[in-house]
Amino acid sequence: MQLTKHFDLFELTITHTGLANEPPYWMVERLRIVALGLERIRAVAGGPVQVHSGYRSGRVNRVVGGVPFSAHRLGWAADVSFPGRTLGAAVERLRAASPRELGAFDQLIVEETRRVLHCSFDPRFRSQWLIQSGGPGTTVRPWPRLTV
Ligand SMILES: [Zn+2]
Repeated sequence: MQLTKHFDLFELTITHTGLANEPPYWMVERLRIVALGLERIRAVAGGPVQVHSGYRSGRVNRVVGGVPFSAHRLGWAADVSFPGRTLGAAVERLRAASPRELGAFDQLIVEETRRVLHCSFDPRFRSQWLIQSGGPGTTVRPWPRLTV
């Protein structure tokens, strides 16, 4: 099912665990909100966005070591990379964008060890830029400076 121009439900429920990972039907609209957010990320970053993990069932979340109340579990988040560009280059463009260009988001977390950007569109919309240097489950810190 196509959610937006560039993102479909298959991508946003992808898992490499081999486990079933079908969201409840009511969560599909949340995933559409995530896809709309990813469209803005894509437009600002200036090229394709690859989704590594979006929605996660409880079992999938446990197997991949996600935190128990992960935004992935709730259908509000996707971890993405930017094919053909380094994470740093894409993040630099996103950081330089105006709030209007980037639109509403809850958290953007640069996951340095996995080299992905965790993008959450939880409707708290806290606009937090964060960085996680130590891998899944480690401390997440506020972004330390204005440029990459
Ligand atoms: Zn994530």
